[in-house]
Amino acid sequence: MTTLADIKGLTKPQLASLKKLGLTTPQNLLLHLPLRYVDETRITSIRDLRLGESAQIEGEVVHAEVTYKPRKALIVRLQDASGEVNLRFLHFYPSQVASLSVGKQIRAYGEVRHGFFGYEMVHPQCKAVRDDTPVNEQLTPVYPTTAGLTQFNIRGAIARVLKPEFLGETLPESVYRPFRLPGFEHSIVTLHSPPPDADLTALENRAIPEWRRLAFDELLAQQLSMRKHYVKRRASDAPMLKPSVRLVNQLLETLPFKLTAAQQKVVAEIADDLTQPHPMQRLLQGDVGSGKTIVAAIAALQAIEAGWQVALMAPTEILAEQHYKKLSHWLEPLGVRIAWLTGSQNKAARQANLDAASSGAAQMVVGTHVLFQENVSFARLGLAIIDEQHRFGVQQRLALRQKGQPEPHQLMMSATPIPRTLSMSYYADLDVSVIDELPPGRTPIITKLVADERRDEVLARVHEACLQGRQAYWVCPLIEESEALQLQTAQDTYAHMQTTFPDLKIALVHGRLKPAEKQAVMDAFARNKIHLLVATTVIEVGVDVPNASLMVIEHAERFGLSQLHQLRGRVGRGANKSTCILLYQMPLSETARARLKVIFENTDGFVIAQEDLKLRGPGEYLGTRQSGVPMLKIADLERDADLLQVAKDMAGSLLETAPQAVEAHLQRWLSQGAELVKV
Ligand code: ADP
Ligand code: MG
Repeated sequence: MTTLADIKGLTKPQLASLKKLGLTTPQNLLLHLPLRYVDETRITSIRDLRLGESAQIEGEVVHAEVTYKPRKALIVRLQDASGEVNLRFLHFYPSQVASLSVGKQIRAYGEVRHGFFGYEMVHPQCKAVRDDTPVNEQLTPVYPTTAGLTQFNIRGAIARVLKPEFLGETLPESVYRPFRLPGFEHSIVTLHSPPPDADLTALENRAIPEWRRLAFDELLAQQLSMRKHYVKRRASDAPMLKPSVRLVNQLLETLPFKLTAAQQKVVAEIADDLTQPHPMQRLLQGDVGSGKTIVAAIAALQAIEAGWQVALMAPTEILAEQHYKKLSHWLEPLGVRIAWLTGSQNKAARQANLDAASSGAAQMVVGTHVLFQENVSFARLGLAIIDEQHRFGVQQRLALRQKGQPEPHQLMMSATPIPRTLSMSYYADLDVSVIDELPPGRTPIITKLVADERRDEVLARVHEACLQGRQAYWVCPLIEESEALQLQTAQDTYAHMQTTFPDLKIALVHGRLKPAEKQAVMDAFARNKIHLLVATTVIEVGVDVPNASLMVIEHAERFGLSQLHQLRGRVGRGANKSTCILLYQMPLSETARARLKVIFENTDGFVIAQEDLKLRGPGEYLGTRQSGVPMLKIADLERDADLLQVAKDMAGSLLETAPQAVEAHLQRWLSQGAELVKV
């Protein structure tokens, strides 16, 4: 394959800089598309300049001086036949001062702003011209770049590869024409060198068909690679687990509640997957408190009854232990033996549990990150369940899965709902089940926003509620810069509460406690021996204490949306009316205000997730560890949602009917060597 090193005229340093941008072949250089454009095809009269708009002007320097107030700046006054305007430079070299001296004829491009003396341009791009210097014929693209590679260099490099030989069409016309998308070559050429009459706004908003064609291609490549992965998985082996007849029924009989319709639906979906001869990879989504654990227990019983082992991994010790207890309570009466592995166990206990896993004496093994480590082995691992899956990396999930032979089924659970557009794109190779209903009898949580000045009132309210037999969480602020400071704040709050309310039983839980201490506190809280639990965000995931019905979150403006939603989900788990008070401190940034508004107005996790995606964008939302799938660079899941749907609908049939086109297409779009292992 041709690489950029084969292209004449590119220097070694340029090649190195391009490589830093991930650009090593003509193909991916061509897909390095402009961020924006500047219009140097026209010259605007100074009199016609409009505030906020960018324009190119030409004139003579009539005044130039370096001033020192309010700070050092080079001020250049440019005059044309219609008027005068100031150019201001805050950073400049002596050579620039010389080239902008009185009498020079200059063309300047920049945005028009308010200055001290009427309009001005700050740091315009300038060049010396003569009367007969022609204007550009095309809009000038501006590219994302890196230190050492100028816009001039990058434009030059792209010009060298903007040739038909690198611009072949990968897709049959019947794929893109029906959606009024233009050809690939035309699209690429247009975006790198748009015609002078192009609509700059539409171009920059990526609203023209040429942009849409490339967004479509990118989305299609993503769908195709996911689909391939999916097909490959369906062709590999996994244990076929017959539906459980005995154990599940026994469990259901002992439960104090009936499964909701939504739970029954996902139980059936999972049960069906497990009977298949290829590995399940199913993501079970359900809002906080929707009852995912019992669904996991039922799936586990199917594997166990069929003679296989089950691993259940959770991201924190508190959560792992809570699962261990709950599952023991549910399953041990049915004769299921559960082993338990965490980092804090002593050697002897650890060894006994490891042995139980490797001999097969334990049918189920519950634990933390420890589970996927090397020294853990299973006799017959048939199902791996991962709770709060987004807390684990791809490699960690893979490592756990590799402990089974053949590959075990995998059930991933998440209380952080994934917006529809994301699950259609980045998660397209997974099967998804959704529990879209909460168990009955839950009263909705009331959310209140309270300014921090009213903290004392809130404290009084918590006090009163506790005396009436309710339990409360007091969540201390997130301090991103310093974990030590965060701990300090929690300890201070705890001390303060203790002196203020000597009549309450108050406890403190935070990440630095020893696991056993943490567990002791959580147990006491669960057994209603503690009124008020002062906590850091360690309680964020999965903690389930139904009697707790009041939560205060301090400095709520510092938390992310999904974190607030998760935290709030710790209450509203029992029959009591629950309240979550969000204390915030003014002044609020615009995003903080937006987040608080969303959390105040919504309780549906999916709506919150969708809003979160809007506020943060998919990169932030997914996190890098989320998947091995390359991030979309061109397509925007909101703007291009219609194309996403088309790409998804088309991927399967294209793989069957046009495998060569698929390969060529993937080659072009995934040519940066991105390895597509996922989940
Ligand atoms: P999450 O989906 O957040 O993991 P859990 O599995 O912890 O939720 O369930 C929350 C609580 O609801 C638990 O106390 C659980 O026993 C209870 N629960 C689960 N399913 C039902 C149901 N169908 N009816 C009543 N309570 C249920
Ligand atoms: Mg849970």
